[in-house]
Amino acid sequence: MIPKFTELKDKTIVITGGGGILCGEMARALAAQGAKVAILDLKLENAEAVAVSIKKDGGNAIGIEANVLEMESLHAAHQTVIDTYGYCDILINGAGGNHPKGTTSKTHLEVEDLSADGDFTTFFDLDPAGIKFVFDLNFIGTLLPTQVFAKGMVGREGCSVINISSMNAFTPLTKIPAYSGAKAAISNFTQWLSVHFSKVGIRVNAIAPGFFLTDQNRSLLTTAEGQLTDRGNTIISQTPMGRFGNPEDLPGTLLWLCSDGAAFVTGVVIPIDGGFSAFSGV
Ligand code: NAD
Repeated sequence: MIPKFTELKDKTIVITGGGGILCGEMARALAAQGAKVAILDLKLENAEAVAVSIKKDGGNAIGIEANVLEMESLHAAHQTVIDTYGYCDILINGAGGNHPKGTTSKTHLEVEDLSADGDFTTFFDLDPAGIKFVFDLNFIGTLLPTQVFAKGMVGREGCSVINISSMNAFTPLTKIPAYSGAKAAISNFTQWLSVHFSKVGIRVNAIAPGFFLTDQNRSLLTTAEGQLTDRGNTIISQTPMGRFGNPEDLPGTLLWLCSDGAAFVTGVVIPIDGGFSAFSGV
């Protein structure tokens, strides 16, 4: 049961990647508090689907097409938000993810891999374009929306930015060097920006979800038949609470970070991970 955070009522909240699984759930939870939620996504139909589901439940939401990597697109989205709801009070930088081209096939490199004719990607085969895609989507895709939406927060009360980090920012996960590096950059940027914005009334924090089954990791964690892969099994065995996260596990922490109860909290990265980051494996 999530309590009411009355201060969130009528706040304008922008959530990038809001058409996705985790951020769609966050958008619904914020709207249930009475916030006006602008759902930005590369895929307009996904953003609109979340907005429609919110409106069906009596909430206030709008779906807006936006690319977090293009300033022009973000400025257009910003104008739509201002015209519809007014200036953004809270920005959630949710768009992000990994890409197969930034991923090695195997956990460890073996000497024989270099002469093998196998259909797999070693570290030496990683495509710089794939690495750049992942860095840009996660890091630049957080920085640019913050430049666009946080400017209007300067000097106003109750404003904040929430970034989305990951377990791999604390300790890199095998096979995904680009995504791990990019999310480490998000945690680092969260701390940097919290200091930079500390005199102008904008708090900056991040949540670091553990393992949640969504489209971006489904093929790494489950087979086509829906069974757990070796990696999926390893994750469950390393998660003290013994399960993947459910999207509904996120809003409690998110709402608190957005609320007045967190008025003296800035520059933190909070794991929501069933204990994964606390467990050494022994
Ligand atoms: P998702 O793929 O369901 O959602 C991501 C959304 O971002 C999609 O709707 C997609 O269309 C949108 N998007 C992609 N590129 C975009 C762009 N250039 N501009 C605007 N929107 C764009 O993924 P999710 O699992 O819900 O992930 C949400 C966030 O949580 C991501 O930042 C992800 O890295 C992070 N995260 C996820 C997990 C997990 O276990 N799923 C764990 C830790 C962190």
